[in-house]
Amino acid sequence: MSSLKRFKSDLLYERASKVMVGGVNSPVRSFKYVGGRPIFIAKGKGSKIIDVDGNQYIDYVMSYGALIHGHANDKVLEKTIDIIEQGTTFGAPTEPELLLCEEITKAFPSIEKIRLVNSGTEATMSAIRLAKAYTKRKYILKFEGCYHGHVDQLLVRAGSGMATFGVPLSEGVDEEIASKTILCNYNDIEQLYKVFSTYGKEIAAIIVEPIAGNMGVVIPEKEFIFTMRELCDKYGSLLIFDEVITGFRVARGGAQELYNVEADLTCLGKIIGGGFPIGAYGGKREIMKMISPEGPVYQAGTLSGNPVACAAGLATISFLDQKSYEYLERISSFLEKEIYKIANEYSVDVKVNRVGSMFSIFFTNREVKDFQDVLSTNRDLFAVFHSMMLRSGIYLPPSPYEAMFLSTSHRVEDIQDTSLALQETFKSLK
Ligand SMILES: *Cc1c(COP(=O)(O)O)cnc(C)c1O
Repeated sequence: MSSLKRFKSDLLYERASKVMVGGVNSPVRSFKYVGGRPIFIAKGKGSKIIDVDGNQYIDYVMSYGALIHGHANDKVLEKTIDIIEQGTTFGAPTEPELLLCEEITKAFPSIEKIRLVNSGTEATMSAIRLAKAYTKRKYILKFEGCYHGHVDQLLVRAGSGMATFGVPLSEGVDEEIASKTILCNYNDIEQLYKVFSTYGKEIAAIIVEPIAGNMGVVIPEKEFIFTMRELCDKYGSLLIFDEVITGFRVARGGAQELYNVEADLTCLGKIIGGGFPIGAYGGKREIMKMISPEGPVYQAGTLSGNPVACAAGLATISFLDQKSYEYLERISSFLEKEIYKIANEYSVDVKVNRVGSMFSIFFTNREVKDFQDVLSTNRDLFAVFHSMMLRSGIYLPPSPYEAMFLSTSHRVEDIQDTSLALQETFKSLK
């Protein structure tokens, strides 16, 4: 196993720790869950990244799913640079934002009207505000283990008991606001019926990751998806799909296309910015018209619809066709088979949860269907696995709770190299 050169990365991290909180600008990057220190990345091309010390890795983070064509894709770059040269922001409407919005509404039949924002967090924050205004109700139902950005009302965990009202997951979140969120277990249909029969008429919306990606990948039962749709229709609540990861990832029209179901409101981000900051929320015309300037729900943004982000996002999604998704499925299923084969060879218990090009490796011999299942997996082993894979040139998310991603730039050779790293790693794990 090769060892990493680490000199400049450590120096930069030391300096960063003096001026940046935890040395990072977003907590998961700190390697808190796996131990060790983060690596500073210098550049990337396709499926590969190179750190500041010159070590090369095959990247399965892909900026947490934002990059579906890999790093510095030539075609995306070309379109983006063309726009940058015309000026970067105007605080006035531009054509790229219109083109992006038209493309998104074409891909998602449930999105008749859309509003662009600057992050996934902004999208979910605005979507629940809109849902509460539209239904004139206060409660939001979310699922344990789903992440929807760091919005106060969504940064909650279950108190004690079965279906419970939320308590703050973070200090600084008002208990009053947290208590307006009802927590349920992912994939628990019985609990949903129970909660709706008691509180249904007070629930403004369910917000859900239709394929969970933020407790690792957890796949929904089809029945779970249909039950949410049925209960929202019955009780007049809105169904909000947070497709920040799954939109354009699992299919062009996201999980909604895959499961043939329509959400009332959809949140997007990541891929639609082509590597630039973006978010979006949209849905039925009748609901969306409540947003300012058409309606009374205020929401605004200086850089919203930024032409550079929109050009990059537009280029990204216009280079995604049926063939891209077929290719992603092919190499991803090849990788999944390799993981099981090698784990079997060395008698390491693993469970791979995968939908298309998003997947997770859990160290367990059981099914992983909700957050409790995730917590029962061997997360210490994941930390060891992570650092050994890193040393073998495979860059995985530094947390058992983050999904892994492939891109259209990953090649069969990348999977073969990954298999070699898995061989060495699993051999010494057993
Ligand atoms: C990443 C993510 C968000 C938050 O998006 P940011 O751009 O990081 O604010 C929200 N929901 C889901 C499902 C995400 O994966």
